[in-house]
Amino acid sequence: QYLTGNQIRQTFLDFYAKRGHEVLPSASLVPEDPTVLLTIAGMLPFKPIFLGQKEAPYDRATTSQKCIRTNDIENVGRTKRHHTFFEMLGNFSFGDYFKKEAIKWAWELSTEGFGLDPERLYPSVYKDDEEAFAIWRDEIGVPSHRIQRMGEEDNFWAAGPTGPCGPCSEIYYDFYPELGDKDIDLEDDSRFIEFYNLVFMQFNRDSEGNLTPLQNQNIDTGLGLERMAQILQDVPNNYETDLIFPIIKTAAEIANIDYNQADEKQKVSLKVIGDHVRAVVHMIADGITASNLGRGYILRRLIRRVVRHGQLLGINKAFTPEVAESAIALMEDHYSNLREGEDLIKQELQREESRFLETLERGEKMLGEILAKETEQISGKDAFVLYDTYGFPLELTQEVAEEKGLTVDLDGFEVEMEKQRQRSQAAQETIDLTVQGSLDELAQKVHPTEFVGYSHPHTAAKVE
Ligand code: ATP
Ligand code: MG
Ligand code: MG
Ligand code: MG
Repeated sequence: QYLTGNQIRQTFLDFYAKRGHEVLPSASLVPEDPTVLLTIAGMLPFKPIFLGQKEAPYDRATTSQKCIRTNDIENVGRTKRHHTFFEMLGNFSFGDYFKKEAIKWAWELSTEGFGLDPERLYPSVYKDDEEAFAIWRDEIGVPSHRIQRMGEEDNFWAAGPTGPCGPCSEIYYDFYPELGDKDIDLEDDSRFIEFYNLVFMQFNRDSEGNLTPLQNQNIDTGLGLERMAQILQDVPNNYETDLIFPIIKTAAEIANIDYNQADEKQKVSLKVIGDHVRAVVHMIADGITASNLGRGYILRRLIRRVVRHGQLLGINKAFTPEVAESAIALMEDHYSNLREGEDLIKQELQREESRFLETLERGEKMLGEILAKETEQISGKDAFVLYDTYGFPLELTQEVAEEKGLTVDLDGFEVEMEKQRQRSQAAQETIDLTVQGSLDELAQKVHPTEFVGYSHPHTAAKVE
């Protein structure tokens, strides 16, 4: 019998509680940090501590943090491992333990706590991090040819152009150990899945780019709950775990579809619904309402994608409150605020769904007229009017166009979009959701010519 999602979460928190970590509840999806719109990683609530702006009330903490990453929205339903909403399990050290303990415990938890076969695990380290390499080899006993060195992009973390930063070490799981351990490519996601990332906050970077050792070295980690569930429950993807599949089943029932008989396109739509509905109920429960700005716009967009994918499945009635009920029922044991917010959640969904259906109807009329006159391409201007006036997501226009063998002038659309941005300062907030984006902007102001960007694996989250 496999571990349920709830048991996996508990196993993680118990493991670190036993090792002196304060177990803290998930923070809200609405972060206190003003540089991001939504909580994108378990470390975000602790950022002021890591940056030395706030005193740590504990030396060690552990959490299961609700996260939303809109930068992964196009991956939803398409890769086996990406969601918009997911839970990141984390253990944190605030100037307390460092690499050795972090690696040792991550390994112990993975192999003994979760019972994973060590032969199926591959650690990665930052290419220059000899210290981490040696710990994996000498303390843990992983043969050196199995330890993979990776570059800046994946394995070096920075909170910004200056300030604390450091190398990461990750753990990957091998779905096909029979292929052997030669010529390993951890980026091959048909074979491997990254499930645990350990960040070693070790250096301070000054404005010249020099790295000096930090006085207080910190540990920040993230383990994807849904990914561990995929591994332990032995299912083909995160979506078929007990954390999400019941929602997919509800949607499939409403659409009168048997998931196992569904074709690939239908499965994608069902997965998108399963993913987004989890995001949406948590966002509303955390106080977000649909609007055309910032977080509200993300919520609106997610709801509209749920409705649209419902239509693709042939659902022709309002259905989001019913799927939301299934999501609330599924998650209420751990998140009691969902049942408390039930009425609010369902009302908000009902309102948004019917508003969208009305808009769609008007937009469809316009789109019909466009399709009647165009033979090859929908102009950027038309696509923009559909988007701006009728709330037609660009992807929807693209999908409909594609069905008719037409393309959409994306450059033209971008031009219109840019004009719109310039027209309204407020609209800009809907575009840049990044920590990195705002940091880049800041850096541009400080060093307008020098700054070329930093890799930011742990908290990078861009909306497309
Ligand atoms: P990937 O390379 O697979 O996109 P990542 O390197 O962007 O993952 P991190 O920023 O290191 O992810 O986050 C820490 C952990 O959180 C990951 O190892 C993974 O288990 C989980 N995680 C990250 N992004 C997602 C997502 N979109 N959906 C589900 N789990 C995620
Ligand atoms: Mg990623
Ligand atoms: Mg990665
Ligand atoms: Mg990572």
